[in-house]
Amino acid sequence: MSDFYVLLGPPGAGKGTQAEIVSGRCGIPHVSSGNIFRENLQNDTPLGQKARDYMEKGELVPDDITIGMVQDRLQQADCKNGALLDGFPRTPDQAEALEQFLLSIDARIVCVPFIDVDDQELIERLSGRWTCKQEGHVFHMKYKPPKEPGICDIDGSELYQRKDDKKETVEQRIRVYTKQTAPLIKFYDRKGLLKRINGSLPIEKVTQELMNVINC
Ligand code: ADP
Ligand code: AMP
Repeated sequence: MSDFYVLLGPPGAGKGTQAEIVSGRCGIPHVSSGNIFRENLQNDTPLGQKARDYMEKGELVPDDITIGMVQDRLQQADCKNGALLDGFPRTPDQAEALEQFLLSIDARIVCVPFIDVDDQELIERLSGRWTCKQEGHVFHMKYKPPKEPGICDIDGSELYQRKDDKKETVEQRIRVYTKQTAPLIKFYDRKGLLKRINGSLPIEKVTQELMNVINC
């Protein structure tokens, strides 16, 4: 039986930051739908071309595109014992599709940590976020500054500010989250899988809370 974890939370809650740390400590692959889309955008693939407009406007990419893309990723060999999902599922239909897919490969969701942060803090975090071009590692000019400005500590690639991190798009992404993704909190709570994490704490404290629930 392979074990999957779903990190739930609004944009900027710290899902990518925490997934990176927990993935390293627990040896579970980190699967970020946003990172896969951005790789496709950078390489100008047909998938990237389909996703670009939605991403730039802060909308969700349609389910039929997103579900297939994530399922392809989860079928790769490194996910055979499970994965830590970040940014997927983001709609009830994606959550249903994930359930069906996991059933078909005899896998399960062990728990769904929900990283909770209030809107004002999300805007501050996203407006100071710097992302690396190569692998999507994230930094923050105040809360997690890189050792050398503009350079990723991990792979040495250039850091950039995501187009969708500008204030108007962030506000739109928070609205989209509230309408389309927040219903998943109840969905997973009813299944007894939801674990609330206080995401307003400093990065290391959130990691501690997360490690307590993931227990790898
Ligand atoms: P998400 O993947 O949920 O969109 P990120 O992990 O990219 O969020 O984090 C958003 C920004 O907030 C990044 O710049 C990151 O460095 C910063 N950040 C993440 N967690 C915290 C935290 N607990 N406290 C302060 N800043 C944080
Ligand atoms: P993220 O990196 O998770 O903040 O995602 C960035 C953008 O990619 C989102 O605003 C969406 O446009 C798109 N995206 C990522 N994951 C999904 C998903 N599960 N469903 C639909 N769109 C997604």
